[in-house]
Amino acid sequence: MLTEKPARDVLRITLLGTGIPNPQINAFGTSTLVEAGDERVMIDCGRGTVIRMSQVGLGVGHVGTIILSHYHSDHFAGIFDMAMTGSIPQKFGGRNGPLQVYGPPGIQEIADGAWQATGPDRAIRVADNEIDPEHMRIVPHEYVEGVVYDRGGLVIRAIEVDHGEFIRPAYAFRVEYAGHVFVHSHDTRYNENLIAQAQGADVFVHEVAAARPETIANYPAVKVAIDHHATPTDVGRVFAQTKPKLAMLTHLVLLKPNPVLIGDVMDELSTEYDGTVLVAEDLMTIQIGRNVSVIPYRHGGKQSGMV
Ligand SMILES: [Zn+2]
Ligand SMILES: [Zn+2]
Repeated sequence: MLTEKPARDVLRITLLGTGIPNPQINAFGTSTLVEAGDERVMIDCGRGTVIRMSQVGLGVGHVGTIILSHYHSDHFAGIFDMAMTGSIPQKFGGRNGPLQVYGPPGIQEIADGAWQATGPDRAIRVADNEIDPEHMRIVPHEYVEGVVYDRGGLVIRAIEVDHGEFIRPAYAFRVEYAGHVFVHSHDTRYNENLIAQAQGADVFVHEVAAARPETIANYPAVKVAIDHHATPTDVGRVFAQTKPKLAMLTHLVLLKPNPVLIGDVMDELSTEYDGTVLVAEDLMTIQIGRNVSVIPYRHGGKQSGMV
Protein backbone atom coordinates (compact mmCIF):
# COMPACT_ATOMS: atom_id res chain seq x y z
CA MET A 1 0.00 0.00 0.00
CA LEU A 2 1.21 3.47 -0.83
CA THR A 3 1.11 6.34 1.62
CA GLU A 4 -1.25 9.24 1.00
CA LYS A 5 1.69 11.50 0.29
CA PRO A 6 5.18 10.53 -0.81
CA ALA A 7 7.89 10.68 1.86
CA ARG A 8 9.70 13.98 2.31
CA ASP A 9 12.12 14.74 -0.54
CA VAL A 10 10.74 11.86 -2.61
CA LEU A 11 9.41 12.41 -6.13
CA ARG A 12 6.66 9.86 -6.70
CA ILE A 13 5.46 9.05 -10.21
CA THR A 14 2.56 6.70 -10.94
CA LEU A 15 2.15 5.55 -14.51
CA LEU A 16 -1.66 5.44 -14.62
CA GLY A 17 -1.77 4.72 -18.36
CA THR A 18 0.96 3.42 -20.64
CA GLY A 19 -1.03 2.58 -23.76
CA ILE A 20 -1.85 3.87 -27.23
CA PRO A 21 -5.17 4.56 -29.02
CA ASN A 22 -5.98 0.82 -29.37
CA PRO A 23 -8.35 -0.07 -26.52
CA GLN A 24 -6.53 -2.50 -24.23
CA ILE A 25 -7.57 -3.50 -20.69
CA ASN A 26 -3.95 -3.63 -19.47
CA ALA A 27 -2.73 -0.40 -21.05
CA PHE A 28 -5.04 2.60 -20.90
CA GLY A 29 -4.29 5.90 -22.65
CA THR A 30 -1.26 7.82 -21.47
CA SER A 31 -1.60 9.43 -18.04
CA THR A 32 1.09 10.05 -15.44
CA LEU A 33 0.50 11.17 -11.86
CA VAL A 34 3.25 13.30 -10.32
CA GLU A 35 3.30 13.67 -6.53
CA ALA A 36 5.88 15.64 -4.56
CA GLY A 37 5.45 17.25 -1.13
CA ASP A 38 1.98 18.80 -1.14
CA GLU A 39 1.79 18.94 -4.93
CA ARG A 40 -0.16 16.60 -7.18
CA VAL A 41 -0.22 17.13 -10.97
CA MET A 42 -1.31 14.85 -13.78
CA ILE A 43 0.48 14.84 -17.13
CA ASP A 44 -1.82 13.70 -19.94
CA CYS A 45 -5.23 12.21 -19.32
CA GLY A 46 -5.97 9.36 -21.69
CA ARG A 47 -8.89 6.96 -21.79
CA GLY A 48 -9.77 5.43 -18.43
CA THR A 49 -7.70 7.78 -16.28
CA VAL A 50 -10.45 8.06 -13.66
CA ILE A 51 -10.62 4.26 -13.37
CA ARG A 52 -6.86 4.08 -12.78
CA MET A 53 -7.16 6.87 -10.20
CA SER A 54 -9.79 4.89 -8.30
CA GLN A 55 -7.49 1.85 -8.39
CA VAL A 56 -4.85 3.83 -6.48
CA GLY A 57 -7.46 5.20 -4.09
CA LEU A 58 -7.86 8.66 -5.56
CA GLY A 59 -11.22 10.27 -6.19
CA VAL A 60 -11.56 12.12 -9.47
CA GLY A 61 -11.43 15.42 -7.57
CA HIS A 62 -8.05 14.67 -6.03
CA VAL A 63 -6.35 16.05 -9.15
CA GLY A 64 -7.10 19.66 -10.05
CA THR A 65 -4.25 20.32 -12.49
CA ILE A 66 -3.55 18.52 -15.77
CA ILE A 67 -0.83 19.22 -18.33
CA LEU A 68 -1.39 17.89 -21.87
CA SER A 69 1.53 16.96 -24.14
CA HIS A 70 -0.30 17.09 -27.50
CA TYR A 71 -3.72 16.46 -28.93
CA HIS A 72 -3.85 12.84 -30.02
CA SER A 73 -6.91 11.28 -28.42
CA ASP A 74 -4.94 8.71 -26.41
CA HIS A 75 -3.46 11.60 -24.41
CA PHE A 76 -6.56 13.60 -23.48
CA ALA A 77 -9.78 11.63 -24.08
CA GLY A 78 -10.15 11.26 -20.29
CA ILE A 79 -10.42 14.96 -19.43
CA PHE A 80 -14.17 15.11 -20.11
CA ASP A 81 -14.77 12.39 -17.51
CA MET A 82 -12.44 14.29 -15.14
CA ALA A 83 -14.39 17.53 -15.69
CA MET A 84 -17.85 16.01 -15.29
CA THR A 85 -17.40 13.27 -12.67
CA GLY A 86 -14.97 15.39 -10.66
CA SER A 87 -17.67 18.03 -10.14
CA ILE A 88 -19.93 15.60 -8.25
CA PRO A 89 -19.65 16.32 -4.51
CA GLN A 90 -19.10 12.72 -3.44
CA LYS A 91 -16.00 10.87 -2.28
CA PHE A 92 -15.40 9.54 -5.79
CA GLY A 93 -15.58 13.10 -7.20
CA GLY A 94 -15.23 16.09 -4.95
CA ARG A 95 -13.23 18.67 -6.87
CA ASN A 96 -14.20 21.94 -5.22
CA GLY A 97 -13.29 24.12 -8.15
CA PRO A 98 -12.75 24.09 -11.91
CA LEU A 99 -10.19 21.85 -13.57
CA GLN A 100 -6.99 23.69 -14.56
CA VAL A 101 -5.68 22.27 -17.84
CA TYR A 102 -2.40 23.35 -19.45
CA GLY A 103 -1.89 22.63 -23.13
CA PRO A 104 -0.31 23.77 -26.38
CA PRO A 105 -2.31 26.15 -28.61
CA GLY A 106 -5.77 24.63 -29.02
CA ILE A 107 -6.47 24.31 -25.30
CA GLN A 108 -8.94 27.21 -25.45
CA GLU A 109 -11.02 25.38 -28.10
CA ILE A 110 -10.95 22.19 -26.04
CA ALA A 111 -12.11 24.08 -22.94
CA ASP A 112 -14.86 25.89 -24.86
CA GLY A 113 -15.97 22.67 -26.55
CA ALA A 114 -15.98 20.76 -23.27
CA TRP A 115 -18.13 23.44 -21.66
CA GLN A 116 -20.65 23.07 -24.49
CA ALA A 117 -20.50 19.25 -24.62
CA THR A 118 -20.95 18.85 -20.87
CA GLY A 119 -23.88 21.32 -20.81
CA PRO A 120 -26.71 18.74 -20.74
CA ASP A 121 -25.21 16.90 -17.74
CA ARG A 122 -24.54 20.19 -15.99
CA ALA A 123 -28.10 21.41 -16.55
CA ILE A 124 -29.53 18.29 -14.89
CA ARG A 125 -27.21 18.43 -11.91
CA VAL A 126 -27.67 22.17 -11.38
CA ALA A 127 -31.47 21.75 -11.54
CA ASP A 128 -31.13 19.05 -8.90
CA ASN A 129 -29.02 21.42 -6.75
CA GLU A 130 -26.33 18.76 -6.91
CA ILE A 131 -23.30 20.69 -8.16
CA ASP A 132 -21.76 24.13 -8.52
CA PRO A 133 -21.66 24.52 -12.33
CA GLU A 134 -18.26 26.23 -12.18
CA HIS A 135 -16.74 23.01 -10.84
CA MET A 136 -17.38 21.42 -14.25
CA ARG A 137 -15.39 24.11 -16.06
CA ILE A 138 -12.03 23.47 -17.71
CA VAL A 139 -9.87 26.58 -17.26
CA PRO A 140 -7.42 26.64 -20.18
CA HIS A 141 -3.77 27.67 -19.85
CA GLU A 142 -1.68 27.79 -23.01
CA TYR A 143 2.02 27.09 -22.57
CA VAL A 144 5.18 27.17 -24.68
CA GLU A 145 8.50 25.39 -24.20
CA GLY A 146 9.96 25.98 -20.73
CA VAL A 147 8.58 25.93 -17.19
CA VAL A 148 4.87 25.07 -17.15
CA TYR A 149 4.45 24.42 -13.42
CA ASP A 150 6.53 25.70 -10.49
CA ARG A 151 4.97 25.32 -7.07
CA GLY A 152 6.00 23.86 -3.72
CA GLY A 153 9.44 22.92 -5.06
CA LEU A 154 7.97 20.90 -7.94
CA VAL A 155 9.09 22.16 -11.34
CA ILE A 156 7.67 20.73 -14.58
CA ARG A 157 9.34 21.84 -17.77
CA ALA A 158 7.98 21.30 -21.32
CA ILE A 159 10.50 20.17 -23.93
CA GLU A 160 9.48 20.59 -27.57
CA VAL A 161 9.83 17.30 -29.45
CA ASP A 162 9.17 16.08 -32.99
CA HIS A 163 6.01 13.97 -33.35
CA GLY A 164 5.53 14.72 -37.06
CA GLU A 165 4.86 17.81 -39.12
CA PHE A 166 1.10 18.02 -38.48
CA ILE A 167 1.41 17.63 -34.68
CA ARG A 168 3.32 20.78 -33.83
CA PRO A 169 3.96 21.58 -31.12
CA ALA A 170 4.23 18.37 -29.11
CA TYR A 171 6.03 18.19 -25.79
CA ALA A 172 8.00 15.91 -23.51
CA PHE A 173 8.35 16.83 -19.83
CA ARG A 174 11.19 17.10 -17.35
CA VAL A 175 9.96 16.91 -13.76
CA GLU A 176 12.26 18.09 -10.96
CA TYR A 177 11.84 17.94 -7.19
CA ALA A 178 14.36 17.94 -4.33
CA GLY A 179 17.22 17.34 -6.73
CA HIS A 180 15.48 14.38 -8.42
CA VAL A 181 14.72 14.29 -12.13
CA PHE A 182 12.06 12.32 -14.03
CA VAL A 183 11.75 12.67 -17.82
CA HIS A 184 8.88 11.36 -19.97
CA SER A 185 9.24 11.61 -23.75
CA HIS A 186 5.54 11.40 -24.51
CA ASP A 187 5.16 10.93 -28.27
CA THR A 188 8.20 11.77 -30.40
CA ARG A 189 10.62 10.64 -33.02
CA TYR A 190 14.34 10.62 -32.20
CA ASN A 191 14.89 14.17 -30.99
CA GLU A 192 18.06 16.12 -30.20
CA ASN A 193 16.23 18.74 -28.12
CA LEU A 194 14.91 16.01 -25.84
CA ILE A 195 18.39 14.48 -25.54
CA ALA A 196 19.85 17.88 -24.57
CA GLN A 197 17.18 18.50 -21.91
CA ALA A 198 17.00 14.96 -20.51
CA GLN A 199 20.57 15.03 -19.20
CA GLY A 200 20.93 14.02 -15.55
CA ALA A 201 17.62 12.15 -15.40
CA ASP A 202 17.19 9.63 -12.60
CA VAL A 203 14.42 7.95 -14.57
CA PHE A 204 13.77 8.42 -18.29
CA VAL A 205 10.59 6.91 -19.72
CA HIS A 206 10.58 6.87 -23.53
CA GLU A 207 8.02 5.77 -26.10
CA VAL A 208 8.85 3.25 -28.82
CA ALA A 209 7.33 1.95 -32.06
CA ALA A 210 8.13 -1.00 -34.28
CA ALA A 211 6.60 -3.00 -37.12
CA ARG A 212 7.94 -5.70 -39.43
CA PRO A 213 9.27 -4.41 -42.79
CA GLU A 214 6.60 -6.34 -44.70
CA THR A 215 3.86 -4.85 -42.51
CA ILE A 216 5.15 -1.32 -43.17
CA ALA A 217 5.28 -2.07 -46.91
CA ASN A 218 1.78 -3.53 -47.07
CA TYR A 219 -0.16 -1.28 -44.70
CA PRO A 220 0.06 2.48 -45.40
CA ALA A 221 -1.56 3.33 -42.06
CA VAL A 222 1.18 1.39 -40.25
CA LYS A 223 3.84 3.37 -42.11
CA VAL A 224 2.16 6.65 -41.10
CA ALA A 225 2.06 5.55 -37.45
CA ILE A 226 5.66 4.37 -37.39
CA ASP A 227 6.85 7.63 -38.96
CA HIS A 228 5.48 9.56 -35.96
CA HIS A 229 7.45 7.63 -33.36
CA ALA A 230 10.91 6.43 -32.31
CA THR A 231 12.28 3.05 -33.39
CA PRO A 232 14.02 0.76 -30.87
CA THR A 233 17.37 1.82 -32.39
CA ASP A 234 16.40 5.49 -31.97
CA VAL A 235 15.45 4.95 -28.32
CA GLY A 236 18.74 3.09 -27.71
CA ARG A 237 20.61 6.09 -29.09
CA VAL A 238 18.62 8.46 -26.87
CA PHE A 239 19.35 6.43 -23.72
CA ALA A 240 23.04 6.07 -24.66
CA GLN A 241 23.36 9.84 -24.97
CA THR A 242 21.48 10.64 -21.75
CA LYS A 243 22.53 7.76 -19.47
CA PRO A 244 19.61 7.84 -17.01
CA LYS A 245 19.94 5.87 -13.77
CA LEU A 246 16.91 3.91 -14.96
CA ALA A 247 15.51 3.67 -18.48
CA MET A 248 11.98 2.53 -19.23
CA LEU A 249 9.87 1.97 -22.35
CA THR A 250 6.23 3.01 -22.53
CA HIS A 251 3.54 3.66 -25.18
CA LEU A 252 4.54 0.52 -27.10
CA VAL A 253 3.35 0.96 -30.69
CA LEU A 254 3.81 -2.64 -31.83
CA LEU A 255 1.47 -2.80 -34.76
CA LYS A 256 -0.55 -5.71 -36.11
CA PRO A 257 -0.65 -7.98 -38.00
CA ASN A 258 2.15 -10.14 -36.67
CA PRO A 259 3.48 -7.51 -34.24
CA VAL A 260 7.15 -7.30 -33.34
CA LEU A 261 7.81 -9.06 -30.03
CA ILE A 262 9.03 -7.02 -27.05
CA GLY A 263 12.11 -9.25 -26.82
CA ASP A 264 13.02 -8.26 -30.37
CA VAL A 265 12.47 -4.59 -29.49
CA MET A 266 14.95 -4.99 -26.62
CA ASP A 267 17.45 -6.80 -28.85
CA GLU A 268 17.36 -3.98 -31.38
CA LEU A 269 17.60 -1.34 -28.67
CA SER A 270 20.63 -3.11 -27.17
CA THR A 271 22.64 -2.51 -30.34
CA GLU A 272 22.82 1.13 -29.16
CA TYR A 273 22.43 0.94 -25.36
CA ASP A 274 23.97 -1.43 -22.83
CA GLY A 275 22.10 -0.30 -19.69
CA THR A 276 19.07 -1.75 -17.90
CA VAL A 277 15.69 -1.10 -19.55
CA LEU A 278 12.31 -1.83 -17.93
CA VAL A 279 8.94 -2.05 -19.66
CA ALA A 280 6.37 0.25 -18.05
CA GLU A 281 2.99 -1.11 -16.95
CA ASP A 282 -0.17 0.70 -15.94
CA LEU A 283 -0.25 1.56 -12.23
CA MET A 284 3.47 1.11 -11.65
CA THR A 285 4.78 3.56 -9.07
CA ILE A 286 8.30 4.96 -9.34
CA GLN A 287 9.76 6.51 -6.19
CA ILE A 288 12.82 8.70 -6.70
CA GLY A 289 14.54 9.50 -3.42
CA ARG A 290 17.88 8.31 -2.09
CA ASN A 291 17.45 5.47 -4.54
CA VAL A 292 15.06 4.66 -7.34
CA SER A 293 12.38 2.05 -6.74
CA VAL A 294 9.74 0.68 -9.11
CA ILE A 295 6.68 -0.78 -7.39
CA PRO A 296 4.25 -2.87 -9.47
CA TYR A 297 0.56 -2.38 -8.70
CA ARG A 298 0.11 -5.66 -6.86
CA HIS A 299 2.62 -4.47 -4.25
CA GLY A 300 1.45 -0.83 -4.17
CA GLY A 301 -2.21 -0.52 -4.81
CA LYS A 302 -4.39 1.89 -2.93
CA GLN A 303 -2.99 4.90 -1.21
CA SER A 304 -3.82 4.63 2.46
CA GLY A 305 -6.43 7.01 3.83
CA MET A 306 -8.01 7.87 0.49
CA VAL A 307 -11.20 6.65 -1.17
ZN1 LIG B 1 0.13 8.52 -28.18
ZN1 LIG C 1 0.65 11.13 -30.36
